Amino acid sequence: MKTGDEYRTSLRDGRATYFEGKRVDDLEAHPVLGPTVGEVAATYDRFHAAEPGATSPLLAVARSAADLKARIPVLHAADLVANVTYQSIMTLMTAASRMGDSPTYVERIGAYVDRAQQDDLRIVECITDAKGDRSLPPGKQHDPDLYVRVVDRSADGIVLRGAKLHISGASYAHDLMTIPTKAMKAGEEAWAVAAMVPVNAPGVRIVNTTYAPRHGDARTFPISSRHHMPEGFVIFDDVFVPNERVFLDGEVRHAAVFAHALGLWERLGGLSAFVEEADQLVGFAQLIAEANGLAGEAHIREKISEMIIHATLLRAGLEAALSNCKLTPEGAAVPDELYTNAAKYHGAANYNLVVRHLHDIAGGSVLTAPSVADLENADVGPLIRKYMSTGPGVDGAYRTRLFHAIRDATADALGGWKAVTNLQAGGGLYAQRIVTRKFYDLAGAKRKALAHAGIEPPA
Ligand SMILES: Cc1cc2nc3c(=O)[nH]c(=O)nc-3n(C[C@H](O)[C@H](O)[C@H](O)COP(=O)(O)OP(=O)(O)OC[C@H]3O[C@@H](n4cnc5c(N)ncnc54)[C@H](O)[C@@H]3O)c2cc1C
Repeated sequence: MKTGDEYRTSLRDGRATYFEGKRVDDLEAHPVLGPTVGEVAATYDRFHAAEPGATSPLLAVARSAADLKARIPVLHAADLVANVTYQSIMTLMTAASRMGDSPTYVERIGAYVDRAQQDDLRIVECITDAKGDRSLPPGKQHDPDLYVRVVDRSADGIVLRGAKLHISGASYAHDLMTIPTKAMKAGEEAWAVAAMVPVNAPGVRIVNTTYAPRHGDARTFPISSRHHMPEGFVIFDDVFVPNERVFLDGEVRHAAVFAHALGLWERLGGLSAFVEEADQLVGFAQLIAEANGLAGEAHIREKISEMIIHATLLRAGLEAALSNCKLTPEGAAVPDELYTNAAKYHGAANYNLVVRHLHDIAGGSVLTAPSVADLENADVGPLIRKYMSTGPGVDGAYRTRLFHAIRDATADALGGWKAVTNLQAGGGLYAQRIVTRKFYDLAGAKRKALAHAGIEPPA
């Protein structure tokens, strides 16, 4: 297993990564992108075990419902790149178990997963293509590169061209798990490609974006200054990938296998993050209601009760997804599709409502509370503290800091990021509706309705 320092060294591999118009030669030293290297390295140190041959619990395959459940707090203690690495390993294992008629790919996937576990690698999920005109398939686009495709092939491997967008943590990983974003049909063989591409492969270029605060005083951004994970716009400019890293090359019947497997693991990760976040939002609502003197007010209590119900239903959905897991023939535990998708959908669709309640309860100081530095100014600090206080038990500085935390989490760069990400990540609401419907027992529901009405089913 790698230490944090070994991880830091591993990033000095010539990767081509960019930020706001400039190439970044030293990721760790970069003022905006650098702190995330420290965050990922800290996870390595937290889980490091010195015994030779040990596998990080972040990369190990869960074998039972209890294993899957035990993994949730472990993943919460880890950074996002470690989380998507786990999801990637599980995606590969789930996909391999559904590709029994392609033993070469199954073998290559197995060998790669072994190596990733041995070398304690970090992997990110590259699924979302540029996609061009959304109403057209890959082959009908004005530019065939709008979905990642194979442009050349030799005895040793393939050459990839295209781009994958919004890739969380791309610049901080070792490998890019590059898979088709959707099912492909006959005639779309060039786009039915899955491969594990090294981040430093010649031709890979990553353009980073981030909500990381550009503000000099971290106290104004108490949450986003501690945790932020840039996304990468990943460009594959004719990238050679050797055969042993190619997991699909033209077999359109398997193109959707990877997307379906990733969707499930991505949504489980999203759901488990929602569960934590929903409790935090309840906590903020209750704390600010108490600090404002309104915790006993009927309409405030009702809103917080709704937030509590939201948080509790998400937790119940997560519990159901894990408890009803299925085992693949190889013995890997896979969460239940119906509960995972329905609960993830519920969390995403109602996130803005829950945040609305919080903002409604908190008041305008969410946006206008003076900074912590203002509190320290000899002229105005004591007066700010006096006017931000709401009673003998509520210090003005404490209440001001609560407002900064609420703004940072829900109403500023990180808050805006969450508002969009919670809707889109994991394939968006539409995808979660489709999968929920697919796994719901609709025929059973019709039978129940007919029985309840005393109507014979039609012949
Ligand atoms: C912060 C963040 C992190 C992300 N991380 C990752 C990551 O690590 N890896 C990764 O691969 N992706 C990642 N994503 C991408 C995410 O999965 C996509 O944003 C999502 O799948 C939607 O795709 P899109 O952004 O291209 O939007 P679009 O596909 O353009 O969707 C916009 C709307 O159009 C609808 N729509 C699209 N196509 C059709 C159609 N043919 N017919 C009818 N309606 C349609 C959609 O349902 C949606 O309502 C991330 C996204 C965000 C915001």
